[in-house]
Amino acid sequence: MCTNETGQVHSWSRTSVLIKYRKLRVTVSYCTRTVSVTDQASLVVTSSVSLLCHLFSVCAKAKTRFMELSGRGVFLTGGAQGIGRAITTALLDKGAKVLFCDVNADIGKATEAELQKQCGADNVMFQQCDVTNADQLKAAFDQAVTKFGAVEICCNNAGIMDETIWEKMLAINTTAQIRGSQIALDHMRRDKGGRGGVIVNTVSIAGLLPGHELPVYIASKHAMIGYTTSCARDPEVAGQGVRWCCLCPMPVNTGMLQLKEGQVKTADQFMQKMQPLMIEPEDVVKAFMTLVQDTENNGSMMVVNKVQGGVYKRRMLVDDDGQSNPMLIDNPLTAHPPVPGPSQ
Ligand code: NAD
Repeated sequence: MCTNETGQVHSWSRTSVLIKYRKLRVTVSYCTRTVSVTDQASLVVTSSVSLLCHLFSVCAKAKTRFMELSGRGVFLTGGAQGIGRAITTALLDKGAKVLFCDVNADIGKATEAELQKQCGADNVMFQQCDVTNADQLKAAFDQAVTKFGAVEICCNNAGIMDETIWEKMLAINTTAQIRGSQIALDHMRRDKGGRGGVIVNTVSIAGLLPGHELPVYIASKHAMIGYTTSCARDPEVAGQGVRWCCLCPMPVNTGMLQLKEGQVKTADQFMQKMQPLMIEPEDVVKAFMTLVQDTENNGSMMVVNKVQGGVYKRRMLVDDDGQSNPMLIDNPLTAHPPVPGPSQ
């Protein structure tokens, strides 16, 4: 409390307000000046201005957590049907521009025609491409860059589940996703003149669990968890300005699960086990949108299940004392800070 030269008595008091928005918790502190009655107008002005300034900085902080999608260029593989098509549709709805590729030209062209009708011919484009062919994959990505000016979101999504052609499965599910990631990083990285962005690899819950019916599929997906989360930990990632994320759905009701005997061991029994866990492509889309738009999730995995929807996970080898046996645990992202990453 003080007295100024005109004899007015005033004192400063500090007020704190906790604002909660989804997972965001922000404490706003502001100062109010209590003065004599004759200075009441000045009290109102002082307090309001102070509060507005703080609120403005809070809003600015909240905004940096969220990636706007409107006008962003997207490259997505395996987009003719299933999860890839659902993601493409959702991104277009948010105003993004998508080039999707697929090995299946008939379904790809039909999907392109439908989506162009809904969202405009300039916003979506199909390119036939076998992702296991490095030249075709690069050419398709380059076409997206030419069409949209830049690609800021890359979804390596194409995949198959067929143990009878396991080498091809590894080539599609793993090698091509790694190559797609490398092509995207080269183009997007800010430290080499790119705009930054996010690489989302469609992995699976199969990347986090063993499964005796489909060991090579499981291996192909475990590899992508290892690759994606390792890239996220590169010390250069902040300068590159590119986030890395894994989308890990439970079984999804798509053509991929129309399995013939041999594609997985004991296919009928396997499908009986999967049936109660099955989710729809739209469930995956909701989780994908969170994953792609949350700018503070570098290195995260999002599991998508029937009960909770999208749930962040962080896989960690815990070896606290350096003596006990290390233990692998999956923790929600919120329980541990994310890997420091770029801002967008
Ligand atoms: P889907 O069969 O409906 O769609 C996959 C698309 O990839 C198809 O259009 C197919 O033509 C395309 N494709 C296959 N080989 C290709 C190649 N060599 N080059 C380009 N495109 C190719 O399957 P989906 O369920 O939508 O699968 C999409 C992704 O999701 C896959 O990576 C899959 O492993 C993963 N996933 C699927 C499930 C599930 O249960 N369906 C669960 C978790 C993860």
